[in-house]
Amino acid sequence: MMTEKFIKNEQLNFIKKQIALIKDSTKKNVPQNILAAVIDLANVKILELFPNISLDQQEMLDLSRLKTDKEYEEYIQHLSGYMLPFPRITEQQLKKIFPKHKKLKLPDLSDIDFNHLTYLSWNDLRSNKKFIVCELEGKMVGIECEFAPTSKKNLCSFCNSFGEVSYFSTVTKAKKSKNPDYYKAVGNLICANSSECNKKITNAEYLETFLKDSLGL
Ligand SMILES: [Zn+2]
Repeated sequence: MMTEKFIKNEQLNFIKKQIALIKDSTKKNVPQNILAAVIDLANVKILELFPNISLDQQEMLDLSRLKTDKEYEEYIQHLSGYMLPFPRITEQQLKKIFPKHKKLKLPDLSDIDFNHLTYLSWNDLRSNKKFIVCELEGKMVGIECEFAPTSKKNLCSFCNSFGEVSYFSTVTKAKKSKNPDYYKAVGNLICANSSECNKKITNAEYLETFLKDSLGL
């Protein structure tokens, strides 16, 4: 029976992270009852990501019967077939998102794996700008940030992982009620390589809040 696609990139990353935790506990030879608890907790956390799914989908996500590396691999392989791809976007649409840039530098869209994407991002090295595009409530939105051309090892605000990050700042439209002319600049350390970040991000909440604040939505 065909089930519709229902898994987002960050959700699959989250599931992979849970499997890594289970494998880690297995390797450490923790007692059976502890391992069972780790697996139960992983199942609960995974199901919590999908509050409105069908019984078929719940069964598909259940990893309690998996034992071997091969079984975990096949499980991920199977789930990958149910991933919601990032919305197909054209160069024309990207230009519309950033109308102020008459000569907007565009990413090579043919080079991007839309199946494993939480946010689309590219850099314009000439102007030290980073562009970030993602879907918010069914609409494609984007922001631009200034970035420092140097990187260092630290935690990324988007994927919450340790890696090579750069400092990005953007002027937000978030206003304070007392002062309607107040615009605040927000800085973040974000993975310098956004395709790596998209492989690690397990939760899009921070990214979405950041874009909403920046756009004053
Ligand atoms: Zn990151």
